[in-house]
Amino acid sequence: MSATIIDGRAIAARVREQVAREVSEFTEQTGRIPGLATVLVGDDPGSLVYVGAKQRASEQAGMRPFDHRLPASVSFEELSGLLARLNEDPAVSGVLLQLPLPEHLDGPTLTGMIDPDKDVDGLTPVNAGRLALGMPGLRPCTPLGVIELLASIDACIEGAEAVVVGRSNLFGKPMAQLLLADNATVTICHSRTRDLAAVCARADILIAAVGRPRMVTAEFVKAGALVIDVGVNRLTPEAAGNKSGLVGDVDFDAVVEIAGAITPVPGGVGQLTPAMLLRNTLEAARLQAGLRMAGARP
Ligand code: NAP
Repeated sequence: MSATIIDGRAIAARVREQVAREVSEFTEQTGRIPGLATVLVGDDPGSLVYVGAKQRASEQAGMRPFDHRLPASVSFEELSGLLARLNEDPAVSGVLLQLPLPEHLDGPTLTGMIDPDKDVDGLTPVNAGRLALGMPGLRPCTPLGVIELLASIDACIEGAEAVVVGRSNLFGKPMAQLLLADNATVTICHSRTRDLAAVCARADILIAAVGRPRMVTAEFVKAGALVIDVGVNRLTPEAAGNKSGLVGDVDFDAVVEIAGAITPVPGGVGQLTPAMLLRNTLEAARLQAGLRMAGARP
């Protein structure tokens, strides 16, 4: 039997509509407009596309975009100075420093300079600590998007065996923490995991974030499991079998026959990340207005 294909586009559209409604209520209530500042260093083509899309989406949701673009040669002092000014600016609710940065700039140190209450990417050490300690805080957008996808299909996380393949600070670790907070039994796998397929085959919820095209084959998947494919790998359109040339970390054609539900690539998790950024920006605006975060997760 074929799995349910989880429609990331439709779920992301619902999130964006909901955020736009709540932005309008927030503005009516407080007289403030949430503002999203993006900081892009250099001209990496992928980053240019992502930042442009984030700016447009924030405007469509009724927010004020602040688009900062700096040359790849910018110094650490100049960039940290800009971050400090954005931290102080009352019109700016959320600050996003687009990664990766050029080699002479230390991404984690600079990200750590963002005010944790404006850290809409949820990547500062303070917010990572809040998540680890079960305290309210802004969470990283992609793992948050996965939780939204699971909620949209009424997946039962509590008590489930969840396996996350990948342990990056950006995705794997916060994903595992969010699942743990929702009472899953969580295993994190990585490049040194022994017998990866067997560990994955225990999962009720299997989440792949590796960056290796179609690595998760049918033998990794238990019948009826929920399979969430976070990977984004660029091949030629011929090799990918689609116009975009993008494939995930999961061998979709094989796994769709076994799983209970599965996210496609493209059209799955990737759709949720910018939508969750908008939600985080609204949450940050609420924090700065002295209101409680609406979606505060334990
Ligand atoms: P990353 O920092 O490169 O981490 C990759 C992880 O995969 C590492 O923990 C690595 O293990 C593990 N790994 C590598 N080879 C493996 C193998 N053969 N078996 C088991 N584990 C292996 O990547 P990331 O930033 O987490 O991103 C992962 C993927 O998700 C990428 O394709 C990225 O483009 C995608 N992504 C998508 C979105 C979105 O919005 N859709 C957002 C973020 C990331 P070690 O730690 O042992 O090296």
